[in-house]
Amino acid sequence: MVVAILLLIPVAHAANVEIGRPHIVFLSDTAAAIACKSVSRRACTTMNTLFICACARAGDEWTVRTRLTATPFVYATSQTILKHEMEHVSDIASSLNEYADSLTLHTFTTEETCLSFINSEVKLFPHTLKLIQRLTTIKRDGVQFASRPGE
Ligand SMILES: [Zn+2]
Repeated sequence: MVVAILLLIPVAHAANVEIGRPHIVFLSDTAAAIACKSVSRRACTTMNTLFICACARAGDEWTVRTRLTATPFVYATSQTILKHEMEHVSDIASSLNEYADSLTLHTFTTEETCLSFINSEVKLFPHTLKLIQRLTTIKRDGVQFASRPGE
């Protein structure tokens, strides 16, 4: 019963996710092509992330505690494209929150199994972040751009 009540509170994030203030750089088309490593690029966004996991005892079980900090670095050639990039940042922030929340739902009977789980999640995190970026690229730019993550 207590668990059901806790899960119904939508505003409370179980995980600790912090999105840093975006670093925004305006540049020329030529400079954007270089910074974004593609001739046709008008903008790109990279996320500087810090992902820390720990296992904590909760009664008879072990649960995951996370701290995830993501700071966006946005390179844009115009205000219009900056607005578009900020929509990507917002999508990425939502996905990171969902991901971090999902980690806290796991419970383990021993500390060892918990540690083994968080070790693999931390190891996989660069891949997870790529998938999250691919997701927002498909949503905002279309599937044809999805092989070029971060645009
Ligand atoms: Zn885009």
